[in-house]
Amino acid sequence: MVNVRNLPDQELFYGHKACQGCGAATAARLVLKITGERTFLAYPASCISTVSTIYLQMAFAVPSLTMAFPATGAVLSGMAAAVKAKKLENVTVLGIAGDGGTADIGLQALSGAVERGDKILYVCYDNEAYMNTGVQRSSLTPYGAWTTTTPIGENEDSFGKRKFKKNLFEIMMAHRIPYCATASVSYPVDFLNKIEKAKDTDGPSFIHVMAPCPTGWGFPSDRTIEIGRLAVETGLWYLAEYENNKVKMNLVPKTFKPVEEYLKKQKRFKHLTDEHIAIIEKHRDEEWATMGQRYGF
Ligand code: SF4
Repeated sequence: MVNVRNLPDQELFYGHKACQGCGAATAARLVLKITGERTFLAYPASCISTVSTIYLQMAFAVPSLTMAFPATGAVLSGMAAAVKAKKLENVTVLGIAGDGGTADIGLQALSGAVERGDKILYVCYDNEAYMNTGVQRSSLTPYGAWTTTTPIGENEDSFGKRKFKKNLFEIMMAHRIPYCATASVSYPVDFLNKIEKAKDTDGPSFIHVMAPCPTGWGFPSDRTIEIGRLAVETGLWYLAEYENNKVKMNLVPKTFKPVEEYLKKQKRFKHLTDEHIAIIEKHRDEEWATMGQRYGF
């Protein structure tokens, strides 16, 4: 078990150019603390590649490869094959990609890698939009969020994104993947232990971690952890694990905080009316009721 006392001091992700308070950078740093020096890393076009690979400077202190947007899963498969062919031991083949590079553009390659059973660990840091290209909507952007491609206007349909988040956790479970989890950078011990479990999985593993983005979501950079916690406390994000064909909820709040407490702290939701907020709350309640029935809690 990992805890704050036995967490490795070693840093393998430093000197990067991420914005202050970047949840994605925190996620990458925590992942590498667990996977360690014997990690072969791949990441696609994303905030993480943009802030890590400034010419002549590399923020990752492990062998790393940056590649085209859709290719993370395929590249990880190639790396896993090379590790096998060379009979390397105690190596983690790791992918780190954003929500767009995972749930949209990279989904096909990820699905293929998982279906083949390749021994890889794939971490999707979810900042809920294409942030490095200027905040465009992805399939993991939440309902009502302002993005540059879901603007707010006079038309009553122009209130931000009109669709709810895609359920990536369930998509990955449908592959009967050996280990799959959701996490949040605001619950680091839970996240670290999930990384450790995923690393030791004999086959593909996947972690979907919520990574608040002060720049794209519009909140002060010292509020990242608070915002991530509010997402869980309001029931708009959940912490869960899937293994041995079963889902375990790591945290089921007795009561949810009102979603407004989360939404009103972020500029991307500031235009939402009471009606929109009621729609979000209703959707949350329905989702939790469905999960409760499905997973028995
Ligand atoms: S835009 Fe957001 S995700 Fe990208 S580096 Fe800045 S804070 Fe991190």
